[in-house]
Amino acid sequence: MSNGLLSVDAALEQLLAGAKPVREIEEVPTLEATNRVLARAQRSTMDVPPMDNSAMDGYAVRVSDGNKLRVAQKIMAGSVGKPLEAGTAARIFTGAPIPPGADAVIMQENCDLQGDQVILRKKPRQGEWIRLAASDIRKGGEILPAGKRLLPQDTGLAASVGIKTLPVYRKVRLGLFFTGDELVMPGEPLAPGRIYNSNRFTLRGLAEVFGCELRDYGIVPDTLEATREVLRRAAGECDVIVTSGGVSVGEADYVKPAVEAEGKLLMWRIAMKPGRPLAFGVVQNSTFIGLPGNPVSSFVTFLIFVRPFLLRTQGMKEVTPRAIDARADFDWPEPDARREFLRVKWNAQGGLELYPTQDSAVLTSTAWADGLVDNPAGHAVRKGETVRFLPYSELYW
Ligand code: AMP
Ligand code: MG
Repeated sequence: MSNGLLSVDAALEQLLAGAKPVREIEEVPTLEATNRVLARAQRSTMDVPPMDNSAMDGYAVRVSDGNKLRVAQKIMAGSVGKPLEAGTAARIFTGAPIPPGADAVIMQENCDLQGDQVILRKKPRQGEWIRLAASDIRKGGEILPAGKRLLPQDTGLAASVGIKTLPVYRKVRLGLFFTGDELVMPGEPLAPGRIYNSNRFTLRGLAEVFGCELRDYGIVPDTLEATREVLRRAAGECDVIVTSGGVSVGEADYVKPAVEAEGKLLMWRIAMKPGRPLAFGVVQNSTFIGLPGNPVSSFVTFLIFVRPFLLRTQGMKEVTPRAIDARADFDWPEPDARREFLRVKWNAQGGLELYPTQDSAVLTSTAWADGLVDNPAGHAVRKGETVRFLPYSELYW
């Protein structure tokens, strides 16, 4: 970039090139595997359904036997019937196996009962209301690919073919610490000049969202020694260290010299707003990512940079968030020269509204919003125009 800034994409590319996926695999109960990343593709060892079964409560019949049949047996789900004798029907319930000889199920709503006879008011079609064996899953077929983050429906699918445990990557160990002598925790007195450590809550919450095993080192004083010491400790315990604050070039910004003293550091000035300064380095075997201290900046840079880095480290290949084309119901007449991530919210008309102040210290904007508009550098948005929207739902994993 001509202005000496690094583009978001170039920074992301360098960052992801440094991501080392965790190798260790652990076998966890399928019941506890939601939100973990699957380490090996799973195949089914059985056909689903394992046998032809009824999709309805009704009568299993042989179509060629006509429309007046003796009800000779009853088959509940979980039991097995006898072969269907000519001229008979089997009372059958949803999920129950089709008896040999039957070739259709007729819904009970289309039948009349006369003593032990059933009258079919409508001729069933061959195969009607029969779920064929293996029509859902074939024995040996892949049901879940490696590298997939397991959602509730995925663990349900694994369980439906009898898989009791699943191989998943161990969780990424994420260390967090927060620089700034001005920081206090909620519950402590707020002396003049002090502020609450809101980033601790936002970043910890994000660590949980992304399924990390969290090490929270708390507030670190603005001294070189304290910053070096926590870095050393965190590097020994974590895969990734994320910090907030101290990456500007002010007098109290010790992150840069501390990482340089303990490892290697790249200091970036990124062409994005919010969040110009970003630090990326290596300390021992762990990756260091230093986010800016401004609450909106640290939130947005976490989503744009740390999120894909964590997903890649966690064994996922696809880490690009899916953007949605959406209508801007706002004007943004004076865009920044940097790519901007604007806090916006859906309105009742299906368009996007803009939070009135986009200042990176105004955390309210992030809580109000439904996501971010990814606005190209220097691009003025006009009402009605289509913009690239990144909903939080696509950014949380
Ligand atoms: P820094 O990047 O350290 O210069 O911080 C930039 C701004 O963000 C300053 O106004 C800080 O007070 C504020 N800030 C830094 N860390 C936090 C934090 N953990 N929570 C809330 N605000 C913070
Ligand atoms: Mg600071």
